[in-house]
Amino acid sequence: MIDLGTVYLAVTGALLLVTLGVGVRVLSEIVREGRDRQRRRRAGELEKYTEDEEYDRVPGDPVEDNGDDGGADTTCPQCETDNDAAFDYCRRCASPLRPGS
Ligand SMILES: [Zn+2]
Repeated sequence: MIDLGTVYLAVTGALLLVTLGVGVRVLSEIVREGRDRQRRRRAGELEKYTEDEEYDRVPGDPVEDNGDDGGADTTCPQCETDNDAAFDYCRRCASPLRPGS
């Protein structure tokens, strides 16, 4: 007769191994992608999301509020960039614009 404890241990061990394997693979994928992005950003292939002048409004341009919900722009508490009131996070530095959201 097969010992139930042994079966339990085997099944649990197998599940643990599978979980670990998947977890490690996902983690290494994330790390690999992060390194790749870092490398490309350093090489200038990827635009920086900080200090990007394209996102600054051209002086004299009319301020466009399309898809307006009537709200005023929200100023980022971190970098003081104007963001659409509909945004939850700063388009420049990705800081949360509202506390508790
Ligand atoms: Zn910001």
